[in-house]
Amino acid sequence: MMIKSALIVGGGIAGLVSARALALRGVGVTLLERKPVVEDDGGIGIGLQNNAMNALAEIGVAQMVVDQGVAVDSIGVYAPDGRMLHERPTDRWCGSPWPGYTGITRSAFHALLLAAAIEAGVELRTGMDVVEVEPERAELRTRTGERLSADLVVGADGIYSRLRRAMFPEHGRAVPTGESVWRARVPNVRKQRISMMFGAGVGTIGLTPLRDDTYFYVVDRSERAPPRGAPDMAERLHALIGHVPGFPAELAGQLSRLPGDVTYRPLETVRLAPPWHKGRVLLIGDAAHAGPPTLAQGAAMGIEDGVVLAQTLASELDLDTALAAFMRRRWPRVSTIVDASLTIARAQMEPNGQAAMAEAGKAAAAALAKPF
Ligand SMILES: Cc1cc2nc3c(=O)[nH]c(=O)nc-3n(C[C@H](O)[C@H](O)[C@H](O)COP(=O)(O)OP(=O)(O)OC[C@H]3O[C@@H](n4cnc5c(N)ncnc54)[C@H](O)[C@@H]3O)c2cc1C
Repeated sequence: MMIKSALIVGGGIAGLVSARALALRGVGVTLLERKPVVEDDGGIGIGLQNNAMNALAEIGVAQMVVDQGVAVDSIGVYAPDGRMLHERPTDRWCGSPWPGYTGITRSAFHALLLAAAIEAGVELRTGMDVVEVEPERAELRTRTGERLSADLVVGADGIYSRLRRAMFPEHGRAVPTGESVWRARVPNVRKQRISMMFGAGVGTIGLTPLRDDTYFYVVDRSERAPPRGAPDMAERLHALIGHVPGFPAELAGQLSRLPGDVTYRPLETVRLAPPWHKGRVLLIGDAAHAGPPTLAQGAAMGIEDGVVLAQTLASELDLDTALAAFMRRRWPRVSTIVDASLTIARAQMEPNGQAAMAEAGKAAAAALAKPF
């Protein structure tokens, strides 16, 4: 391996995966997370599609995900009156032995990635808010004034990446899509398949089985935002979906009232043109690319980034060549997925958006059918 040390900024999914992937190849990795603990920010559940599982298998954690989550074999598309319009199997690509789709709680997924990173020898430093980056020297400064450097810095600091804003000020901000998403956990209701419902007066209603619960999300227009910190989030979400005749009554009726079990967030997007690196600092995950979650591929793309980074660093002779090889592998695939996610998000809000949605879905499927 041509690098001996790496600093990873951010203990999200992309940061944890890249940390383990590099540590497994003998790199001395320190992961810096600004929060006091490494944990998910309250996203409830996540769907890991087959390509994400293939990448997780490369770092030896796919089986743990299957054990702690639930494999889902089919996706049903429903009309607002509850009629199933069609059902199809979840996709497996490249002869993969892993499930087409695995539903898992975000907290369980984060905990297992963290344990896997530590097990591989990653040094974890929490409470480390990185406020400055010097790309040519691969040097970071934290809020407390500490300076750190390594052979490579990986910026996995999420959609509001401070590293991105410092390195590429012209691409600094995440752009709102005009939509927002409600997410909710319905405890102790288990569903068999992923369900999606269109045309119910909101963008998409999606439902993902978790191990013991059901996670669902509702995409809506951002102008109908709840007041910040509203105490009656479950009631508000109920008002949004309660009138939809085909929405499963047991889900609407059993929404969890626990704080954090119903969340709301405006959707934003980042599409950083290549290269995602400057000097010896590389951005990955949402820091470099984030589409609306219409294809459920955001984390999958960040997971692939982490695995491909370790592969290219191991196969090339110098850092510049490795970063160029990384970009050649990542950009065509990631840009196709981000563009398709955006097209689908826009089309969902159009009365006649079905053709555009189908076209974008096809482009994404063709990209995902190829190895990452
Ligand atoms: C509604 C919704 C549903 C989704 N569903 C799916 C799905 O089903 N499947 C899927 O594959 N993807 C999904 N995604 C996308 C997925 O959640 C994201 O792509 C993924 O979580 C991003 O991970 P990340 O590690 O890049 O960034 P983040 O999760 O944002 O992690 C960044 C980390 O960096 C830390 N950090 C930030 N700044 C600093 C700093 N200056 N110093 C130190 N640390 C810092 C943060 O505290 C955080 O821990 C969904 C997204 C949304 C919004």
